[in-house]
Amino acid sequence: RAKERGRNTYQFYTEGMQDREVRRLELDKDLSEALAGDQFELHYQPQLDLITSRACSVEALIRWNHPQRGMVPPVEFIPLAEESGRIAEIGRWVIQAACRQLRAWQNTNLSHLRIAINLSGRELDQPDLPDYIGQCLLDSGVAPHQLEIELTEESFIANIEHNHEQLRRISELGVHLAIDDFGVGYSSLGYLRNFPVDLLKIDRSFITNVAQQQDDAVITRAIINLAHNLGIRVVAEGVETKEQLRFLYNHQCDLAQGYLVGRPMPARKLAEKLTQGLLPESLKHNS
Ligand code: C2E
Ligand code: MG
Ligand code: MG
Ligand code: MG
Repeated sequence: RAKERGRNTYQFYTEGMQDREVRRLELDKDLSEALAGDQFELHYQPQLDLITSRACSVEALIRWNHPQRGMVPPVEFIPLAEESGRIAEIGRWVIQAACRQLRAWQNTNLSHLRIAINLSGRELDQPDLPDYIGQCLLDSGVAPHQLEIELTEESFIANIEHNHEQLRRISELGVHLAIDDFGVGYSSLGYLRNFPVDLLKIDRSFITNVAQQQDDAVITRAIINLAHNLGIRVVAEGVETKEQLRFLYNHQCDLAQGYLVGRPMPARKLAEKLTQGLLPESLKHNS
């Protein structure tokens, strides 16, 4: 049926279809063309340092500028790219693009920024991924600690011995590791022990009502304390209101990311925005 509707329908990738296999092949072909045709782009979302009120890092989020469908968000294609294995190539493109961006920011007023990229567990399957990251860093001449890798809890726990070995190798390059969407996965806290995690990102679902809901506030404070006692820094995801920001500031959260601070945006727009100053005076904690 999707075939009759033509390829121009957005639902093609999302709606339940009889023929999953056809849909998957179609998408995979499109993804391969996307890689060849330069249709991917990284957008950057600032992370605000709550002590300095400045952006210290940005998260790179992939965007697919599809010639017929327009901007396709990652939830529409990352899961399928993981299934097909195409994610390996996409991930390499992301790593290289991020390293090139860091290089482009050298000798500008954005040279202090780190970039965090998302890796899915499937990407760690590639035995040479740590070498690939090391090579991209060398080629671009940027300091390894300017690159961060975000992984969900699931990826830490799945295929645990292989993944931990891979992450240890990545961490030994000097690249920082962050746990994404923390608190909503199968939280076995064991992996925080003896493992080089640098950052925890509190899942947006805890932040949404953190200023109103006692349970969310308790959990958020507990995550911040746990992380700090382990020497790990904390990022709050999905910060949309001034009340949330104030709560996070009052409870010593290190970094805030969300629409309040800035939406994901192309590099050029980010440069403009950071040059103007990220936060209006009224949002600074000392106002
Ligand atoms: P994530 O890594 O947890 O990224 C955060 C998502 O929340 C992003 O969605 C971001 O645009 C959105 N977001 C940020 N601030 C707010 C806010 O204040 N409110 C709300 N409602 N949302 C906010 P996006 O860009 O659609 O990405 C979705 C997911 O796709 C990411 O979740 C990540 O898991 C995955 N992804 C994105 N880029 C890549 C990539 O390059 N590689 C891989 N493997 N996965 C990626
Ligand atoms: Mg992320
Ligand atoms: Mg997240
Ligand atoms: Mg997520």
